[in-house]
Amino acid sequence: MHITSENHVYAMSSEHKPVASIKPGERFTADLLDCFSGTIKCERDLYGPDHWKTVNPATGPVFIEGAEKGDILAVKVHDIRVADYGIMIVHPGSGEVGDSIRKTETRVIPIVDGQMVFSDKVRVPVNPMIGVIGTAPKGASIPTGKPGEHGSNMDCKLITAGSTVYLPVYHEGGLLAMGDIHALMGDGEVCVTGVECNGTVELEVSVLKGVTLPTPIVETDDLIATVAAHADLDIAAHNATKKMLTLLEKRFGMKRNEAAMWMSAFADLRICQVVNPLKTCRMEAPKSALTPYDANPSLCF
Ligand code: CA
Ligand code: CA
Repeated sequence: MHITSENHVYAMSSEHKPVASIKPGERFTADLLDCFSGTIKCERDLYGPDHWKTVNPATGPVFIEGAEKGDILAVKVHDIRVADYGIMIVHPGSGEVGDSIRKTETRVIPIVDGQMVFSDKVRVPVNPMIGVIGTAPKGASIPTGKPGEHGSNMDCKLITAGSTVYLPVYHEGGLLAMGDIHALMGDGEVCVTGVECNGTVELEVSVLKGVTLPTPIVETDDLIATVAAHADLDIAAHNATKKMLTLLEKRFGMKRNEAAMWMSAFADLRICQVVNPLKTCRMEAPKSALTPYDANPSLCF
């Protein structure tokens, strides 16, 4: 199954009609538009108020067969292929240093042989990630730019090929949608963009039943990270940490005080981004320090 990028939405919503139906375990590919819906293509295209209407398109929603309210989707990212260029912008008032930016600028960054050509002097390997990936939220529709308990615009740079994203199912089929590929992004996404790319993702979804996890969670070969979003960065940090405490107690059988000390000794609390309507933080637990509690410290049961 291949889903083209004309099939996109600007909100995560239970009211959207699915564009495809996928069986658990069935690999599928989807084309994703960049965060500007392809409206900024060259350095003459400058970001402005008109672009607000078409930011953060997400391909989908995809109906996952058999997924029911209360289940969890485990979305395995097999591959992320990026186009041959990425876009970055700066804009007065946007991002963490928007108050210091005087002039809007667009930079087109060629991507050649897996390397992004940031400038004449700087050429680095890409590390493609998915910025927006989520399910239909519990209540009213939420714009795709806003992260939350349903995932969406988390901008967690751990969501790369090989990782698994765990998302809640609030409505039949889950209604998965994704977009906002970055060829590269630093934690914080401070200028308001990563290296924004069109691209194609290859995904596979499992449906976990009878399992309670403090979603959203991202698992890589080495880490398990709980993610939380809030307008206040302190509260996002607190909530990501609380979710990890819950995971360590419920999944790994740690006593509460031990779990708190375990996190303080082994885990890393990090910022995902500070430039979206809600900020996101993650608490990263290294699997190497979880093996004494479970020889296979994965969440895919
Ligand atoms: Ca984003
Ligand atoms: Ca982005």
